[in-house]
Amino acid sequence: MRRKIVAGNWKMNTVIQDGLDLAESVKKNAEKGLPENVMLILAPPFTHLAGLKNILPDNIGLAAQNCASEESGAFTGEVSAAMVASSGANYVIIGHSERRLYFKETDPELNKKIKLALASQLSPIFCCGENLHEREKGIHTEVVKKQIELGLSDIPEADFKRIIIAYEPVWAIGTGKTATPDQAQDMHLYIRTQIKEMYGEETAGNTSILYGGSCNPSNARELFANSDVDGGLIGGASLKADDFLAIARSF
Ligand code: PEP
Repeated sequence: MRRKIVAGNWKMNTVIQDGLDLAESVKKNAEKGLPENVMLILAPPFTHLAGLKNILPDNIGLAAQNCASEESGAFTGEVSAAMVASSGANYVIIGHSERRLYFKETDPELNKKIKLALASQLSPIFCCGENLHEREKGIHTEVVKKQIELGLSDIPEADFKRIIIAYEPVWAIGTGKTATPDQAQDMHLYIRTQIKEMYGEETAGNTSILYGGSCNPSNARELFANSDVDGGLIGGASLKADDFLAIARSF
């Protein structure tokens, strides 16, 4: 049975103490119980990772929001996959649309990051999704297909099994506009079919595909009710522990 995952992407929010307080609140609220097979992951800024590792229980995953596309060396300001792993994190978000857009990250560069993350025993949360123009032109499936083909090219099946996919239509991120449950389900099924072509039925069936884009406690239930939507990558609503947990309890 594939895992249901609700991951919180804190983006560039919270100073360290606020992040520790937020993680503590998530932990306390999660102790009240979660639906079966639902797992939480928190993705704070790099500076918070080691501190959060100290306070989070093993059943709450810890993710970085990015890692470098080079292994080590003279890349001032970068944080390598090995460094992320050494902080205690076990996941890393790769290819978020804000990284693609503002930091001009390309598909081949993302593919390098994925491989370095896997080599450091991290599980990548690989983000894909079309922008509004591409959705309106009706080319959203081709866009996502290409992002997956290039970003996830050349990954041995055993490693691919550790990858989580997040479908995040760019027009829905931070805009308050959510994909309809049908739009989400259609794209998730499309992605799963693509994985099936690459790795076969079993791996496709075991891959968790998360939805991201203005997901909140009011719309999570109808999104998660779809058979191919295995949870969410949550931005804004993950900054409030109660909202984040309400989303996790929407299964
Ligand atoms: C995100 O940035 O991954 C995201 C889904 O943001 P939001 O929930 O705020 O739309």
